[in-house]
Amino acid sequence: MNSNDIIDKLLNGEIKLYQVDREFPADEATDIRRKFLEKKYSISLDNIGNYSIDMQRASARNIENSIGVLQLPMGVAGPLKINGDYCKRDVFIPLATSEGALVASINRGASTITASGGVNTHVISDIMTRAPVIKTESAQQSLKIKQWFIDNFNELKEIAESTTSHGKLIKIDPILVVGSYIYPRFVYSTGDSMGMNMVTIATEKILDKMACETDAHHIALSGNVCVDKKPASINMIEGRGKSVIADILIPKDIVEKKLKTTAEAMQEVNIAKNLIGSAAGGSLSYNAHYANMVAAIFLATGQDAAHVVEGSLGITTAEARDGDLYFSVNLPDLPVATVGGGTSLEVANEGLNILGVAGSGKAREFAEIVAATVLAGELSLVGALAAGHLARAHQELGRG
Ligand code: NAP
Repeated sequence: MNSNDIIDKLLNGEIKLYQVDREFPADEATDIRRKFLEKKYSISLDNIGNYSIDMQRASARNIENSIGVLQLPMGVAGPLKINGDYCKRDVFIPLATSEGALVASINRGASTITASGGVNTHVISDIMTRAPVIKTESAQQSLKIKQWFIDNFNELKEIAESTTSHGKLIKIDPILVVGSYIYPRFVYSTGDSMGMNMVTIATEKILDKMACETDAHHIALSGNVCVDKKPASINMIEGRGKSVIADILIPKDIVEKKLKTTAEAMQEVNIAKNLIGSAAGGSLSYNAHYANMVAAIFLATGQDAAHVVEGSLGITTAEARDGDLYFSVNLPDLPVATVGGGTSLEVANEGLNILGVAGSGKAREFAEIVAATVLAGELSLVGALAAGHLARAHQELGRG
């Protein structure tokens, strides 16, 4: 059968999209599915079909029913000077976005940071979690199963770690009981991978053991106390992925020269907007726009884009100190990787190479770079809002 025959069969509904892979190698199957859509809807998909990545490889690991590749503009901001525990150098940050002015804004923040001697960064926790939901007959039995997890921790740790050479089970905490349901939150370290596949496989082995030794059974491998890809207070408090803090003291003259405002005005904007405004709106995030920086770096480096929802959590602080500005960002829930998942895609690997963090031994360094970039973006936006606030105040004073 040639490709035109297959496209006709797709149009007639005689075969399914995924069945094309059985007849053709991945790159040809990709073209066939795209041409099917072009013909069905009388449209052109030339740009989606114009790509350089190895579709054979991507189809084996990253995508099903492939039709091509998404292109997004990529820019660069920097140099950004980082004085971290893991990253101690100047970096240029690749950023993929369609939001005009974002790269320019981060660049302004980076320039302010670098002129001030650099941003300090610390990874304070490094974990990945999986929390299945388990069913029992009663609250009393649930409490017995909870105790079973506590009593057998060492053996369960051994079982989990037999599935991986990099993953380690650190603790099972908390173990929530809700009537006849139990939610043990398995907390792992996962090296330089983001770790969701790794911890899922390891946790499944533990649940097999539980099914053999008790009357309880699991209903779902994820019971939503993990909490994966949703905004959640437990992740804010306990941490998930990398938990990172970045801070800086910016001298008064640099605040005025680079950000065209004052530390006092920035402190007021931060309190009114990021703290009080977020509380008034019932937000879980007390910041201006972490998601903008996190999304642009995640897309440029092959991170799981759905984790932007977690990376967007966090609190920004700003304090005026005798005219100087103390500024910090706190990201408790930043799932990032330098191996595994989408990081091996050619474009992502190039993005990681710009940062010098591709491969093993680099994930914490990468997490510090993300936090430093988030600080640059927050600084720039809060600074711009404060400059506008000051300008309006001056205008009003002038009129008076
Ligand atoms: P992965 O692609 O399975 O990466 C981990 C693998 O890399 C493991 O096989 C590990 O080997 C190996 N590895 C080599 N060097 C390593 C190092 N220095 N540190 C850590 N591991 C190293 O994926 P993952 O990170 O576990 O999960 C990421 C993927 O999961 C993404 O594609 C994401 O979209 C997806 N995901 C899955 C779920 C889910 O519920 N399953 C949820 C969200 C996202 P060893 O295991 O032998 O150590």
